[in-house]
Amino acid sequence: MGSKLHMETARAIPVIAEMDVVVIGGGPSGVAAAVTAAEQGMRTMVIERYGFFGGMSVAGLSGTVCGLYSSSRTNRLEQIVDGFAGRFVNLLKSKDGIAEPVPFGHTALCVHDPLSWKETADALIRGAGVHVLFHTWFADVIMDEGRLSGIVIENKEGRRAIRGKVFIDATGDGDVAARAGAPCLFGKDGFVQFPTMIFRMGGVDWKLASRMSPAEVEALIGEQVSSGNYELPRRHVYLLPMPRRNEALINATRIAKPGNGVVNGTVTEDLTWSEFEGRRQIREYERFLRDLVPGFKESYIIDSAVQIGIRQTRTILGEYVLKNDDILNARKFRTAIARSAWPIEAHGEEVKIAYLNDDYYEIPYEVMLPRGVEQLLTVGRCISAEHEALASARVTAQCFEEGFAAGYAAYSAIRERVAPKQVDVGEIRKFMVAHGANL
Ligand SMILES: Cc1cc2nc3c(=O)[nH]c(=O)nc-3n(C[C@H](O)[C@H](O)[C@H](O)COP(=O)(O)OP(=O)(O)OC[C@H]3O[C@@H](n4cnc5c(N)ncnc54)[C@H](O)[C@@H]3O)c2cc1C
Repeated sequence: MGSKLHMETARAIPVIAEMDVVVIGGGPSGVAAAVTAAEQGMRTMVIERYGFFGGMSVAGLSGTVCGLYSSSRTNRLEQIVDGFAGRFVNLLKSKDGIAEPVPFGHTALCVHDPLSWKETADALIRGAGVHVLFHTWFADVIMDEGRLSGIVIENKEGRRAIRGKVFIDATGDGDVAARAGAPCLFGKDGFVQFPTMIFRMGGVDWKLASRMSPAEVEALIGEQVSSGNYELPRRHVYLLPMPRRNEALINATRIAKPGNGVVNGTVTEDLTWSEFEGRRQIREYERFLRDLVPGFKESYIIDSAVQIGIRQTRTILGEYVLKNDDILNARKFRTAIARSAWPIEAHGEEVKIAYLNDDYYEIPYEVMLPRGVEQLLTVGRCISAEHEALASARVTAQCFEEGFAAGYAAYSAIRERVAPKQVDVGEIRKFMVAHGANL
């Protein structure tokens, strides 16, 4: 794109709100953070660029809650994450919006209905009295001597400011942290996991479809690609039954630039290209499924995700960096705010999965504290973590628990008149346990 410069004119913009807690982004981590802070009596606002909550879980149709269960070679299944994740899942269950757990290697996941997810978040957010601005973009930060004191937003009404005491960056991409000057990393030597365009199919006969195992589907894709019949870049695909039994969630595409080039989800040209490529690929997977996989003969695409599913972009450099070894060695922390037994599920040229066995690791509070910026917490898929560690910790149940912890931490910081970096993590843990968390 061009390199000419245009000088923006300095102008006064209205401050439209003075809040205690401002949450930027309404994915799983942002919803949990906003609801928790508001339920503690904080004047809380969440801003979200779409007209609904859910982030990658809904707009990206990631479509399942991973990370709730234990991981064991014997497939002994125990729910090890509860807290906000458990509360949300129970609400989904009460409206038939989530299916029973289905096995995923040594562990399990639950597929949900995207509309039920949106409605569940709406009810929690409105019930807690959170102020919501949908269709609103975070545009910039307002800094006072290294402290974040406000944000600039942009929407149909133009550019306006919101002031607050504590901010929670739940954009998934660390947009606020990066803009505030916090040091951020980008994958492993610039490599991040490939995105996926997820889609849903109707008219699936699951009785027939379950006759072919995932390994057989993978082998069939391999054969068909080798014989040049189909162009299917990913072989290890997930075909999952939705809560409505004749529907399927298809997590199959792999969006890479020519030569397995990285797609940078913070670069608009890359995002734009990925949307075209994602929609092209889903038609090819549809053709393959209808032609060759039992139970899909009469199937059809219901919809594609609202946007390309971005697994990873920036991660903050926090007060602690979650290490790959922490996952593999099932490390526990005194300041833990969440457990996880989800494997390292890395979507590179191949999907590589490393399971934990009969154990779990913990995520410490410090991964949410960006270095160099005060009054900011960062939650969800942009926490401070090494590349493979993030490939485990990024899933929905853990994002919920990070938001849960951050929402209470924001309240605690405001009540005690200290920075989020100084709050008593023991207090956060006590609160979380009293509200159902397994810690
Ligand atoms: C393809 C794919 C498949 C996945 N599969 C699974 C799965 O099966 N199970 C599972 O548990 N997890 C899965 N995940 C992971 C999971 O969906 C995400 O990691 C999780 O949604 C992250 O939550 P989050 O709150 O950190 O961020 P996000 O879900 O990314 O939410 C960020 C929110 O912030 C908003 N936002 C971003 N920038 C701005 C801005 N500048 N201004 C205003 N709003 C903004 C976005 O619109 C969005 O709503 C998958 C992810 C992908 C991409």
